[in-house]
Amino acid sequence: MKRREFLKSSSVLTLYFSTQNLIASEENKGTFLSNLFGDLFESPKERVVLRDSNEDVLKVLKPKDIIVKKVENKTFPKIEETIVEEGMIKEDKTLVNNEKEIKSHKDVFIDKKNIEEFVSVREKLKLVQNHVGYGNFNIISFDEMLKVAKYSNKIESYTKKELEFLESIFYYDPKYHGFYGRKVSDKITQKINKNEVSKIPYTGHYLFKGEPEKIYNRMVEDIGDSLVLTSGVRSIVKQTKLFLDKIDSVDGNMSVASKSLAPPAYTYHSIADFDVGKKGFGYDNFTSRFALTEEFQAMRKLKYIDMRYTINNKDGVRYEPWHVKII
Ligand SMILES: [Zn+2]
Repeated sequence: MKRREFLKSSSVLTLYFSTQNLIASEENKGTFLSNLFGDLFESPKERVVLRDSNEDVLKVLKPKDIIVKKVENKTFPKIEETIVEEGMIKEDKTLVNNEKEIKSHKDVFIDKKNIEEFVSVREKLKLVQNHVGYGNFNIISFDEMLKVAKYSNKIESYTKKELEFLESIFYYDPKYHGFYGRKVSDKITQKINKNEVSKIPYTGHYLFKGEPEKIYNRMVEDIGDSLVLTSGVRSIVKQTKLFLDKIDSVDGNMSVASKSLAPPAYTYHSIADFDVGKKGFGYDNFTSRFALTEEFQAMRKLKYIDMRYTINNKDGVRYEPWHVKII
């Protein structure tokens, strides 16, 4: 079999190695790393077998031998919509009442003594996301994230200082920088039960079964296929990544960052809420321009949904017409 055909036919995880003429595929039962993936993401239990281009087995790999360059995203093989993350969006100044509010002298910035960890933690979160895939990362728990970092050769384990930084970002009280939302999650290790969520096809996102999923499906039925889920269930880890990315995008200003992205313990995405948008509307789905779309106009007429962050809400969060409140 030619190399190309072989790559196509090999299952679930296809691993490319630094040595060009070696190919690895995953097969039945086995090593710790693949068991780990199996446990985390319900892929079949497999072992990593290193083969040459004639498919002859060279050796069975231990986790420390493995350099993962690419993990195929079987969970979401075809994501139709370009993925836009709230954390990546630069703040739109027209959304804030006046210029002074954007950078007032009261604004709180990320502590300089944490800058090193801020940078390295963001980098590691990015590597973990690349490693497990975009969809899986939405629901990954803190402990799973630590394991992935520990057992992947491309990612170094989190240092004590990095762990302390992650904990501080979860457990601090954000009132001091102007965020007044209710605390939603108590423990950084809180897990999302994978039996309680549904994958929403072609979006890369999940919704909690029950009310959230039911309401989303009803919305699509009532409004049409141009309405799309832009963000659903977010684990603590996912929200941490988005929050740190947001802080980075506003030059370390935590006061400004938390107006558009809740700190990790304070997001309702961890328990029920979700964001919707107009297909093909990209970044504009996370700006007030979404309120001008036909989709939003149709949403307003639906009696069974509510908006979490209305104009001048008491949480200190900007107006978010796309964020659907559940409960
Ligand atoms: Zn939201």
